Amino acid sequence: MKETYRQIGMRRKLVQHLRTKGIKDESVLEAIGNIPRHRFMDTAFIESAYLDKAFPIDAGQTISQPFTVAMQTQLLELSRGQKVLEIGTGSGYQCAVLCELGAQVFSIERQKTLFSKSGPLLNELGYRPKLFFGDGYKGKHQFAPFDKIIITCGAPFIPQDLIDQLKVGGIMVIPVGEEQQVMKRVVKMPDGQINVQEFGDYQFVPMLKNKAMGI
Ligand code: SAH
Repeated sequence: MKETYRQIGMRRKLVQHLRTKGIKDESVLEAIGNIPRHRFMDTAFIESAYLDKAFPIDAGQTISQPFTVAMQTQLLELSRGQKVLEIGTGSGYQCAVLCELGAQVFSIERQKTLFSKSGPLLNELGYRPKLFFGDGYKGKHQFAPFDKIIITCGAPFIPQDLIDQLKVGGIMVIPVGEEQQVMKRVVKMPDGQINVQEFGDYQFVPMLKNKAMGI
C-alpha cells in the first residue's frame, strides 16, 4: 500500500516533535521516521496516526504514544544484532521499531486477536520478529539470555523470571505500577542483583496474569 505525501509529511513533523520533547537518539528518530504507524492502527484513527497519542487497538488494548515508544527504545541503548525480548506485541508497532534498529526480536502477546494480526502485518512490512502467543511473565527461557528486555504494559512488579533471562550487563525497560507506572531501567549486575533507575511517570494498560483470552 503506497503512502501519501501527507502521511510522510506528518511523520516528519512527529519526528521533529519527539526531538523537541528530548529524544536524542538519532537512530530511534530515524526508525520512527521510517515506519508507517498508520498501518498499525484502526482505519477509524488513520488520520491521527502521527499525533503523539496512544490509540485503541483490538481487544481493549492500545498502541503506545510515540513519545513513550521513543523513550523506552532510547533507554534500551540497542546495538544491531542484539537479542531483545518484548512483552506485549499489541499492534506490533514497537516491535517494528526494534526490528528497524537491527535487533533480533522475540515478542510475546497474550491476546489472540492481536497475536494473529501483528505477524502478517510485520511480515508484509519486511520485518521478521519471532512472535509468541502466551504469558509474558514467564518470558521465553528457550531463547534466553537476552541483551535487552522491554515491557510495554504496566507491570505490578519486576518479574524475577525476566531478570533471570537478562544477560549480565543487560538492560530491561519496564513501567512499574498499578494505576500509574514509573518507567524503570534495570541493569543486571555480575552478582545477579539489579540496579534500578527511574525515568518519570507513564500510563499503560496492565500486564495481566494467567488469563488466556481469546482461546
Ligand atoms: N507494544 C505494543 C503496545 C500494546 S499495549 C504496541 O506497540 O502496540 C500492551 C500489550 O501488552 C497489550 O496488547 C496486552 O494484551 C499485552 N499484555 C498484557 N499483559 C500481558 C502478558 N502477561 N503477557 C503478554 N502480553 C501482555
